[in-house]
Amino acid sequence: MSAVVREDLIVAGRRRPGRGAVLPSISPVDGRVVAEVATASPEDVDEAVTAGAAAMRDPAWRGMLPHERARLLHRAGALIEDDLEGLARLQTRDNGKPITETRALVASAAGTFRYVAAALETLDETLTTPRGPYLSMSVYEPIGPVAAITPWNSPIASEAQKAAPALAAGNAVLIKPAEWSPLTALRLGEILLCAGMPPGLISVLPGAGPVTGEALVRHPGVRKVSFTGGTATGRRIGAIAAEKLMPVSLELGGKSPTIVLPDADLDHAVKGVLFGVFSSHGQACVAGSRLFVHRSMHDEMVDRLVAAAERLVIGDPDDEGTHMGPLISAEHRERVEAYVRLAAEEGGRVRTGGERPRGAGLDAGFFYRPTIITGLDHGSRVCREEIFGPVLAVLPYEDEDALPALADATPYGLACGIWSRDYRRAWRLARRIEAGTVWINTYKQLSAATPFGGVKESGVGREKGRDGIRAYMAQKGVYWGLDEAPMRWGD
Ligand code: NAD
Repeated sequence: MSAVVREDLIVAGRRRPGRGAVLPSISPVDGRVVAEVATASPEDVDEAVTAGAAAMRDPAWRGMLPHERARLLHRAGALIEDDLEGLARLQTRDNGKPITETRALVASAAGTFRYVAAALETLDETLTTPRGPYLSMSVYEPIGPVAAITPWNSPIASEAQKAAPALAAGNAVLIKPAEWSPLTALRLGEILLCAGMPPGLISVLPGAGPVTGEALVRHPGVRKVSFTGGTATGRRIGAIAAEKLMPVSLELGGKSPTIVLPDADLDHAVKGVLFGVFSSHGQACVAGSRLFVHRSMHDEMVDRLVAAAERLVIGDPDDEGTHMGPLISAEHRERVEAYVRLAAEEGGRVRTGGERPRGAGLDAGFFYRPTIITGLDHGSRVCREEIFGPVLAVLPYEDEDALPALADATPYGLACGIWSRDYRRAWRLARRIEAGTVWINTYKQLSAATPFGGVKESGVGREKGRDGIRAYMAQKGVYWGLDEAPMRWGD
C-alpha cells in the first residue's frame, strides 16, 4: 500500500501550503486516498496573479527573444519526455486511465511543448499596407496573466495545450487543475521551473472550481481565461468574462455523432467506433456516443459491436492489457447509471453492459461495463445530453440526405466521425456537419498542428496550431511616419 503524499501549491514558482482547505485525491481504482492536496484560497490566487504580472514586466523576460523563449519550451518538452513513465503512472493513479492511454497523453504534452517552441521561432510579424506617408506594422504583445482551468479527463495534455502557448506568448500562467486530478499539473509546474522558466510566471493552484477557479476568473489582474470543461461551467465563466470584457476560450462538452455509410469497410468501422466511444471509458469530450448506421447494416453492426465490447478488458489501469479502467468517481458512475435507467424509460434496449462488472479487484473501484443501447429516438434525452461515460446509442437511418440534420440535432458541435470508402461522399457530408473536428475513416486522432475547438454549445475559440500562440497575444498596430514635412494641420 503506498503512503498518502502531501502536495503543496506552486505560487509564483514557490512550493508552499495553501490557505484553502486540504483536498483528498482519491484513486478511482479502489477509492483510497492517494494524496492530500493543498488548495488555493482567494488570497493565494491574488498573490499568484500579482507576482505573475510583475514577472511578466521583468525586462529580462520581456526582452527575451522568441528563439530564446523557445529554448525553454524545448527543454520543458524534453523533461516531460524524460519522465514519461513516472508521469503516466502518476496520472493513472490519479484519474484511473489505462497506462497505455496516459503514456500517450504525456507524450502528447511533450510534443505540444516542442511544436509550440518551433512555431514560436517561425512566427512572423507583418508590415501592413500603408494608406499615407508612413510605414505600418502589426506586432503582437503578451495579453497578460492567463488562467488555465482544466478538467480531470486528460490532465497534463490539457494543461500543456494551454501553458505552452501562453508562455510562448510571454505570459504568466496560472494553472487550476480539476479537483479530481491535480497531481500531474503540480508535477508539470515543477518541470517548467526546472526548464528555466522565470519562477514568477508559474503558478499551479489546485482547489474547488467555485472557490479557486472563480477567484481566478474574477481577478482583475487575470487578462484571459482558457477553459476546458463542462458547458454549464463554461457558460458561467463566459458571463463573468463578458462583464470584465476579458477574452476567453471555452472548450466544452460534446455529443458527437459517428456515421457509418453503407459502403464503409466494416472491420475498420467497428474498431473505430469502439475506440471512439469506449477508450478513456467514454470520458472524452469527443467521445463518439451516437452512432448512425444505415438500416441495412444496423443489425450486423450492433452484433459486431456487442461482441467486440464484450472482449474489452476492464480492470487495473496499471496493467498493460487493460482497455478500460474505472470511471473518475462514485458520483460520476451514479450519473452514468441514471442515464442508462433513463434510456430504458425512453424505449431503449441495453444490448450489452448497463451494469457494474464484478470480480476480484473490481468491487472497490468505480468500474462500469461498456454499454450499447438500441431502439432510442434521436431526439431522446439520452441521445441529446452528454453522458461522459461508456454508453453508445446506435440509431438506424435510411436517407443519407437527412444525416446532417440528424447529426446536428443536439446543442453540441464538437466532433464527428464518418466511415465510407467513397472519399467524395465523405467529403460532402463532412462539410455539411456542424462540428469543430471531423474524422473520416479514423477517430480521436489529434495533432498539435491542427486547430481544435467546438461550435454551438461545445465552445468558443480554437486551441493548437500556429494561431494557438496568437490566441494568447494582443495585436498592436505601429505606425512610423516617413513624411519629410510637418503635418499640415492648423496652418
Ligand atoms: P467542470 O466544468 O466541472 O470542471 C472543469 C474545471 O472547471 C475544473 O477545474 C473545475 O474545478 C473548474 N470549475 C468548476 N466550476 C468553476 C467556476 N465556477 N469557476 C471557475 N472554474 C470552475 O468539468 P469536468 O467535470 O472537470 O470535465 C468534464 C467536462 O469537460 C465534460 O463536459 C467534457 O466534455 C469537457 N471537456 C471538454 C474538452 C474540450 O476540449 N472540448 C476536453 C475535455 C473535457
